[in-house]
Amino acid sequence: MIPVAFDYVRASTVEEAVAALGAAEEGKVLAGGQSLLPVLRLRLAAPTVLVDLAGVAQLRGVHLREGALVIGAMTTHAEVAASDLVREHAPLLALAAGTVGDRQVRHRGTLGGSLAHADPAADLPAVAAALDATYVVQGPAGRRSIGAADFAIGLFTTALAPDEVLVEVRLPSTAGWAVHYEKFHRTSQSWAIVGVAAAVRRDNGGIGAARIALTNVGPVPHRARTVEEALTGAPATPTAIAEACGPAAAGTAPVDDLSASADYRRELARVLTTRAVCKALGV
Ligand code: FAD
Repeated sequence: MIPVAFDYVRASTVEEAVAALGAAEEGKVLAGGQSLLPVLRLRLAAPTVLVDLAGVAQLRGVHLREGALVIGAMTTHAEVAASDLVREHAPLLALAAGTVGDRQVRHRGTLGGSLAHADPAADLPAVAAALDATYVVQGPAGRRSIGAADFAIGLFTTALAPDEVLVEVRLPSTAGWAVHYEKFHRTSQSWAIVGVAAAVRRDNGGIGAARIALTNVGPVPHRARTVEEALTGAPATPTAIAEACGPAAAGTAPVDDLSASADYRRELARVLTTRAVCKALGV
């Protein structure tokens, strides 16, 4: 299908983008277009104005500020996966970004676009949740920060106001943590039926701390706090890990669809969480 007609604005600063969104009857930001353009073609959305962020240089790039990793919203998945800073300070994000879609998608799609789109099957929102990301957004009144737990509020819905732009994502450094992103999908480049993001800090041969979040077991990323608590202080053995990961599906709300039943997804949550932690620790 052909999208409904819209006006196009190419912003060169965040302020220009915010002003254009505020002036529009129904404005939408255009980032990499990998999710938005299919949505427009299917006429699931009909914005009157598209505000393109491709020319906003301040939204690109990766920096280290006061010990935290700061990633501009328009940084592509390929740039995130290849960044030495991300590989060192957020190795889980670098790993997961390399599993998003195919090469073309990774070179057009952006971190900010994936997080703002809030698709329950997307990989990076769960990673951001596991890594305690802070989202920095800008609107007419200036900037504000939103914690990971409060950003995604429902299916394809975030705390972003219609005239706000996601500017950057801040991640506390997890340099040295053992990490793995376990993605169960039908074909090598397809979306996750269930995914598990795991970051684990070793401590005297055992597990000192764990951060676990799941993709596609509910409308928003699921932080598996019960599993994290059970893993903390446990020995780094397959048996102890499997026991701690038993309740991985507790508190999830997976859907039944053509890819898998809800029960199957709950079982995947348990199996994949165990596998992700074991692979992260190499046991
Ligand atoms: P766009 O499509 O441009 O925008 C998406 C939405 O976010 C729009 O509503 C837009 O208004 C909003 N938005 C974008 N940027 C901002 C911002 N800075 N501030 C405020 N709002 C903003 N994703 C996965 O996670 N895993 C996969 O395996 C996967 N496979 C894919 C396979 C294919 C074939 C395709 C086409 C996509 C796939 N994706 C996958 C989605 C991909 O990751 C997209 O890049 C991502 O979902 C959207 O990023 P984008 O930059 O293209 O955003």
